[in-house]
Amino acid sequence: MNLRAAIAPLVKGDVQDDAETLRKFSRDTSIFERKPTLVVSPKDANDVSALVRFVAEQKKNPSTELGASGENISLTARAAGTDMSGGPLTDSIVVSFMKYMNAMREVGGNPDVAVATGYAIAEPGMYYRDFEKLTLAKNGTILPPYPASREMCALGGMIADNAGGELTLRYGKMDRYVQELDVVLSDGSRATFRALSALELEKKKAEQTFEGDIYRRMDELLKNNRDVIEAARPNVTKNSAGYALWDVVDRKRGTFDLTKLIVGSQGTLGLITQARLSLVKTEPHHAMLVIFLSDLGKLPEIVRRVLAFAPESFESYDDHTFKLAARYGYEFLKHLGFRQTLALALAFVPEVWALWTRKVPQLVLLAEFAEDTDGEAQKKAHEAQAALADLSLRTQVALGTMEKKFWKIRRESFALLRKHVHGLHAAPFIDDIVVHPDDYPRFLPELNALLSQYDLMHTIAGHIGDANFHIIPLVNLANPAHRKAIMELTPKLYELVAKYKGSITGEHNDGIMRTPFLPMMFSPKVLELFAETKRIFDPLTIFNPGKKVGGTLADIERWMMHPAATQASTGGGGKIRR
Ligand SMILES: Cc1cc2nc3c(=O)[nH]c(=O)nc-3n(C[C@H](O)[C@H](O)[C@H](O)COP(=O)(O)OP(=O)(O)OC[C@H]3O[C@@H](n4cnc5c(N)ncnc54)[C@H](O)[C@@H]3O)c2cc1C
Repeated sequence: MNLRAAIAPLVKGDVQDDAETLRKFSRDTSIFERKPTLVVSPKDANDVSALVRFVAEQKKNPSTELGASGENISLTARAAGTDMSGGPLTDSIVVSFMKYMNAMREVGGNPDVAVATGYAIAEPGMYYRDFEKLTLAKNGTILPPYPASREMCALGGMIADNAGGELTLRYGKMDRYVQELDVVLSDGSRATFRALSALELEKKKAEQTFEGDIYRRMDELLKNNRDVIEAARPNVTKNSAGYALWDVVDRKRGTFDLTKLIVGSQGTLGLITQARLSLVKTEPHHAMLVIFLSDLGKLPEIVRRVLAFAPESFESYDDHTFKLAARYGYEFLKHLGFRQTLALALAFVPEVWALWTRKVPQLVLLAEFAEDTDGEAQKKAHEAQAALADLSLRTQVALGTMEKKFWKIRRESFALLRKHVHGLHAAPFIDDIVVHPDDYPRFLPELNALLSQYDLMHTIAGHIGDANFHIIPLVNLANPAHRKAIMELTPKLYELVAKYKGSITGEHNDGIMRTPFLPMMFSPKVLELFAETKRIFDPLTIFNPGKKVGGTLADIERWMMHPAATQASTGGGGKIRR
């Protein structure tokens, strides 16, 4: 009997192992490729439970009939597959939530209060773009930590990666918005995690169930290691590395909240089947201050001054992205009507002119101010502009179509790169570092010195206000020197990040790429606590093995994409067009 035949009768959903399906699920947006044995699309949480029970049984009593696929069996959750770290990749079973478990259950809240808050209850396979349409229509609220991949990603991945994005500077990451999570645990039972009071925690601990056992053991682990855990909290505004043990107990509110561990755990502790999320109403009127920077030495001072005006977001993109936008910006116009097309086309004239006259800035900074009225937003943007006057910079307050243009370039930067760099792969492997903004003056020169040691062209875009840099080198994975550079440059860069007590991943998470480097960020004691947490939730290692705990450098080398696949994904050999 093969795995498909063994599992199909247990679930109502689809169980597939045809070549086309396996090929489709063997990639995310990372540098890895890993072909699963089977893809299961559950219809509901009962299907997910049945699947987990089957795998747990196989782990305890492997069926000889299932051969290797039975012995090494595991479950890896998948939402939209846009992860950049290899998080949803496996050679065993993929649990895909997109086909059936994608419904909005409820949207609620009070739209009349000044800063409207609300909530939504939804399934993990719902695309963020569909989710936002419904929450906006219901009461004008949104889920602010949406990532730049907002048109392609889904809620399950946003929660499990602890995603953040352009609004994180003001509104925080996913962990702040998760109120409740329905999770299938590793024994197949179902639990709802949320913030518990001290009394509720004691009640949970008294339950003689696997869930009760998790509460008992996690409470003990957190109590016994309180100081070590607090000291391990990364000194940055955003982090997705490791398990957020330091966030479970909120002493001010007197709560104990295991959602803080499930968020950002990349499906290694349990499978999320439903989430209750907070929503907010953001300020409706915007104005953007654009800063064109040719001397990076001024960056720390600019960031310091602009942050004092509390922008809603503070983003950036580099000269390479600028050039790609000047060349290919017309692609943004495809889906617009005539008038919008004309307006946006005209908005790109300055980029084309700068390219023509070779006056491309090294970095473009976008500070967006959001307020109750147009007047207030514009006033803020102009005040911030005035505050930079003595730094001899080119700045501009952008409104309307101009503002839209800058957002388009920022949001599409990775997509532009992936599409238009021929023969090379836009490779995320050092794509998500964070330091404290106060460390810019010392950190940035060291970062540039390190990157310049390698002959890898790269782009830098990101959330400059959070000091979160997305560095995307362009590599030829068929070239052994480039593969070697990946393995060499990564630890060197993370050593630098560790020196500044930063994070190796602000939002994209650990996956295959970063799990082996967690020792560069956390002490052996903290790593042991991560491993113990994994054992408490998942003693048989059913969920997404090798991610967060147990990943090795050999995994990176083993699963790094095959060169032939690279050629196909980038459109064949050629040169970078700069
Ligand atoms: C162009 C581009 C831009 C990006 N920009 C950003 C950005 O600004 N900010 C950011 O944070 N990320 C960004 N990303 C990375 C990625 O898009 C986000 O992390 C996104 O939230 C992942 O969602 P997904 O639905 O694609 O998840 P997937 O890739 O399917 O899965 C991500 C992880 O979640 C786990 N998972 C999925 N569903 C479940 C579930 N039901 N239960 C348990 N675990 C589950 C998977 O196992 C995997 O480990 C970007 C990616 C691209 C390609």
